[in-house]
Amino acid sequence: MKVYSFPRGGFSYEDHTAPRRDSSVVAYLPTISVIPLVHNDGGRVQPVVSVGDTVKEGMLIGWGHTNVHATVPGKVIRRVSWKNACEQEIEALVIRMGGTFEKLGKKEEIFPWEGISSHDLRRIASDYGVVEMEGSGRSLADMLFSKSGGKDHRSLVVRCVFDDPWLVADYTLCKERSTAVVEGSLVAAKMAGVHRIVFAFSHKELALGERFLQDSAGILEGGPIPVSLVLTGSRYPQRNYRELEIALRSYEKREMISLGSLLILGPATLAAIYDAVRLRKPILDRYIAVGGSAVKNPQIMRVRIGTRIGDVFAECGGFVAKPRRIASGSPLQGRIVADLDEPVLKTTYAAFAMLDNQADFFNKQNCIGCGECRMVCPVGLDPEELYKKIGHDSPENWGCHGCGCCELVCPSRLPLATAICSAQGASSCP
Ligand code: SF4
Ligand code: SF4
Repeated sequence: MKVYSFPRGGFSYEDHTAPRRDSSVVAYLPTISVIPLVHNDGGRVQPVVSVGDTVKEGMLIGWGHTNVHATVPGKVIRRVSWKNACEQEIEALVIRMGGTFEKLGKKEEIFPWEGISSHDLRRIASDYGVVEMEGSGRSLADMLFSKSGGKDHRSLVVRCVFDDPWLVADYTLCKERSTAVVEGSLVAAKMAGVHRIVFAFSHKELALGERFLQDSAGILEGGPIPVSLVLTGSRYPQRNYRELEIALRSYEKREMISLGSLLILGPATLAAIYDAVRLRKPILDRYIAVGGSAVKNPQIMRVRIGTRIGDVFAECGGFVAKPRRIASGSPLQGRIVADLDEPVLKTTYAAFAMLDNQADFFNKQNCIGCGECRMVCPVGLDPEELYKKIGHDSPENWGCHGCGCCELVCPSRLPLATAICSAQGASSCP
């Protein structure tokens, strides 16, 4: 099969400190959970329980444009707030685990969805707190609503593009819960009113992509939505919206089909849609990759939302020595974890801790003019030049999408992507 990619820049990203592509382990249930009352997009959530209340597993505890649920049963013991590394004020409810589990270990009832209208499917997703679990953390109902308002032709792209070793948890989810991801895609297609589903897989995952295609055919039984498998490159940042769209437009041209506008969703979001619609279950846990040079036993874990990051590292055997840098996400685009009591969020797909030698990567020196940053920029920018301009010229949008390639390859460790992104405004970067 032909492999579609973007024309220039990028690089093959490998990191031996990320956990291996293996199966996941289910993490211990946390004795203390910290459930934030804020969405990633800044939207506040109104708590519907108070300190001292008893909550059940999966019970609604916060109401907002996306609802928030207790991920373990127990008692609300505190309401806390802190500032994260981005100076964002976060409020949260702290739950001490206790009592019986309503869902864990129980036989799950499967609800039909075919006869439910797209409007009602979106409402169910919202009720059960489904958000975009990759990147933005936006409310899924809002995203789908904005994509289904027009009459234009559109496609749902299921993004299984693994161009970053820290996406290994998503890969494992696709392997272990393929039915949930595939059926979640079909439900999302109906919710958004799309005309085609495209399974976009990195070319090394052809077998997994073919399994998705086969499974979806079994469910649709020749139904009205055409489904295609498109193989993409695996050079970073292939999964970025811009680079993925370039690859898909080449596919569209070659196959002489029309994809229209693209709604791109990842496997964690689609599995959450399945859980909400088929199992009537809110997002209780997620797959995350835990590793880095400071972690004793890197692994892929299925962790309850609200588990403290410190507990997650402890379950990986703790640290081999004091870490210099702890963050969530990929080292390319991660967010510093200022306090180990910060919780795993719906959007946390990885957590890493680095020792001095790995974190030395972040000690900046002077530019040596090697030109590596220009070579890897997929947009064709000159990151060195833009970096020099910061603080001298008035901020503008240079078209940088914050992929982080320039920063990673810079031998002088200059924070190119970070500085360019913040200079041109956070809204233009992931
Ligand atoms: S300048 Fe922006 S788009 Fe170009 S490599 Fe750096 S982060 Fe990526
Ligand atoms: S990669 Fe770093 S050292 Fe090389 S030209 Fe770019 S900014 Fe300078």
